[in-house]
Amino acid sequence: MKKNSLIFVIFLLLIVVLAGCSFKAEAQKPKKEPAEKSVVQPVEKQTVEEEEVINEEQKEVDTSQWIDVNEPAKIPILMYHSISSGNSLRVPKEEFRAHMKWLKDNGYYTLSPEEAYLVLTQNKIPTEKTVWITFDDGYEDNYTEAYPILKEYGLKASIFMIGKLIDKNNHLTTNQMLEMSTNEISIESHTYSHLELNSLTPSQQMEEMKRSKELFDHMLDQETSILCYPVGQYNEETLKLAEETGYKMALTTEPGAASSDQGLYALHRIRISPGMPPNWFGTLVSGTEDGH
Ligand SMILES: [Zn+2]
Repeated sequence: MKKNSLIFVIFLLLIVVLAGCSFKAEAQKPKKEPAEKSVVQPVEKQTVEEEEVINEEQKEVDTSQWIDVNEPAKIPILMYHSISSGNSLRVPKEEFRAHMKWLKDNGYYTLSPEEAYLVLTQNKIPTEKTVWITFDDGYEDNYTEAYPILKEYGLKASIFMIGKLIDKNNHLTTNQMLEMSTNEISIESHTYSHLELNSLTPSQQMEEMKRSKELFDHMLDQETSILCYPVGQYNEETLKLAEETGYKMALTTEPGAASSDQGLYALHRIRISPGMPPNWFGTLVSGTEDGH
């Protein structure tokens, strides 16, 4: 009996010790977990916040060195379509190269959409020689032909893509747009279906503008801010709807330099046609840069 009692007592003690250990372990666990969380979480949060701050800083344009202009600032917005040959909308690659070389050789500064907005709303320009290069319709040759030349000369540009033609024959692919949008070539909206907006009802117009904006916002992780009217067609309703849909500016095909007195939703552009020698191109660009 005594022996059995002793074994029982030892057994009990063993249970108590083991239970104690496991209790200790359990007791440590909850302490450890919050400790880990409280250390790890703020670090993660801080990193994310820091990244957000950096991105915002990168996006912010420093205009402290820009030149003030008294009258509404005027800028030439160049309008290209396809970089190829065959019709009056297509500019051959070598002609395009000669135009870009002329801009580079003559010390021109090329604008991003954000910078163009600041020029037109703050009446300040980065240099006397400032230009905004744009392409309509998003042809694939904008990537294969124009993009390498723009990169070679260190020039920025904007492409107005048609939402429903992404990844379609002869037009830009998602990957091409993603690559260019992180390399100084911004992708903006040329609506979803490329229908003439003045022939649509207000709700149809809104759908065309909204659907493409949401598509590009999501696909390129950006705030798509510029709209380009298909075939340059628009009416009074279009101007209001473009603003309501969240665009900051819209471009037409009305000829000449752009300025805010045209209205930020009806900006003019300079059409670049094939067969234009560099000096002729130069006259078009420089003749409009200061509004004369
Ligand atoms: Zn178009």
